Amino acid sequence: MEVLLSGDARAELQRIGDGLDARQPVRVRDRGIVILDPQPTLAPVQEKSDEQQQRARGPAARAWQGSTRRQGSPGRSRPPRAGSRVVGLAGSYARQLEDVQRAYPGATLLPDDHGVWLLARSRVIDGLAREAICLIALPDTPAVEPRGWAFWEQDGQVEWIGPRHTNFPDGSVCAYHAELDKAWSPGGDLCTLLDLYSVWALRHLHLVVFDRWPGRQHAMPDDLGQSDPYYRLLQFKEAELCSCGSGRRYGECCRPRDLKLPFLSIMQAFKRRNLGRSILDRAAPAEIMASVTRGGRNAPPPMLEIHDPLRAHIAASGGGIRTKP
Ligand SMILES: [Zn+2]
Repeated sequence: MEVLLSGDARAELQRIGDGLDARQPVRVRDRGIVILDPQPTLAPVQEKSDEQQQRARGPAARAWQGSTRRQGSPGRSRPPRAGSRVVGLAGSYARQLEDVQRAYPGATLLPDDHGVWLLARSRVIDGLAREAICLIALPDTPAVEPRGWAFWEQDGQVEWIGPRHTNFPDGSVCAYHAELDKAWSPGGDLCTLLDLYSVWALRHLHLVVFDRWPGRQHAMPDDLGQSDPYYRLLQFKEAELCSCGSGRRYGECCRPRDLKLPFLSIMQAFKRRNLGRSILDRAAPAEIMASVTRGGRNAPPPMLEIHDPLRAHIAASGGGIRTKP
């Protein structure tokens, strides 16, 4: 799929990428348009990584999160706080739908026996000839994180967005680190979740256009819970920020040390941890692709079939699978 974007859009994309590298905060406007924050409100927050910024709470810090920072919807009510979790999250998601549709026109919620699916489109940046389609499985329980996929759509063609910063092996979006970033938790504001996906899609666009993932990034953990050197060697480009948090480029930071490690053994260790799979064995499930390709007219698959952590959670809690009345 050829990237079609105006000269202005290309310049803007580069500016935002440079801003992400420099830890500048971004905002997400209605329809998922990502911009650099023209008026950063919390100076100290800018010192932190982008993911760390998302962790901050409070009205000013929410500037990072897509609710109060949003432009074009001044009348939006305050979203429910992530802390006010209730069991049976589908109802709280349904109550947010009007707000979500104001920010992401056309967004819909699709029912499932174990939660709801959120389907929404994001324009990512002004002057881009493609849109991102996000399909996110939101389990009914606060114990299980959502699982979502994103696709580019251009001239009726649909293409999976990946494999960078997607999960193994189902190619689901890794827009934030559930434990480290605290950017979003089950029951939280759906606009914020879609904003995180929009920024993630923008980073992918930047990767395609400028051959570099912009901003702070995490690597998969190795046996010791550290950034896996094998993963970094294969996935990180030298001009990208290193995952160790030094703020330096990978090529000038941990890469020389990673290169000195015995390559075959770190590769085998990676495969052992990932059921023998190669780093390239990531793709969206065919049922998800089919649902999105048909413009959402095909219902998504049963959540339980494609959401491995949800299935594991239900099995661990006694297999209490609900059946329809
Ligand atoms: Zn490093």
